[in-house]
Amino acid sequence: MPELDDVDARILGILVEDGRRSFREVARRAGITTPTVQARVKRMMDEGLIRKISPVFDVSKFKQGLVFHLYLRVNPAEIENIADKLEKNPEVRGIYLTTGENNLTLRVAVESLEQLQRFTETLSNDFGVRQNSSQMIVKIFKDDQPVLIRPGTGVELKCETCNGPISGKPFVLKVAGRERFFCCQTCLGKFRETYEPKLKGLAIAIESPSPR
Ligand SMILES: [Zn+2]
Repeated sequence: MPELDDVDARILGILVEDGRRSFREVARRAGITTPTVQARVKRMMDEGLIRKISPVFDVSKFKQGLVFHLYLRVNPAEIENIADKLEKNPEVRGIYLTTGENNLTLRVAVESLEQLQRFTETLSNDFGVRQNSSQMIVKIFKDDQPVLIRPGTGVELKCETCNGPISGKPFVLKVAGRERFFCCQTCLGKFRETYEPKLKGLAIAIESPSPR
């Protein structure tokens, strides 16, 4: 499994504190060059490690509705499917697969108890989910992202072709300036076969595989 090195971890730590910092500012704080920061951030975005840089709200400053944790018991074979569908619901703010008798926890933001009621009805009618219990969140003291960034933190990359996890060194292909990652030569080959003709039409080149 690939790992974050010290430079990645330093860059991420600085960006987590303030995502508006320029590459130059990050470089100065991390004691590395601006092009290094640029290249590393680009790579981590290509790899999908950084999904987006977005504002973090102070929830206490917003007049908002009610936030609940719902603890559900779901047929294990159905979990992926249910999670996929729930993900599209704007009131669902978090979905967690957990250990224990209740195996799925949802964080739900609603305007009213009636809306919560409607939501739980949907869960039972559409997904056959029986809600076991719920708790209202009264105050949020801390709500950070659940990844502790430090050097050596393992990262899981997924293959562009088969979507399987990439164990060991990934096979890398540069397409239109963006790196794509594959689990094996075969998957890389399949990607080339599919996309190379299309990209040729657009005069966009696939660069030769590079070691990483
Ligand atoms: Zn693959």
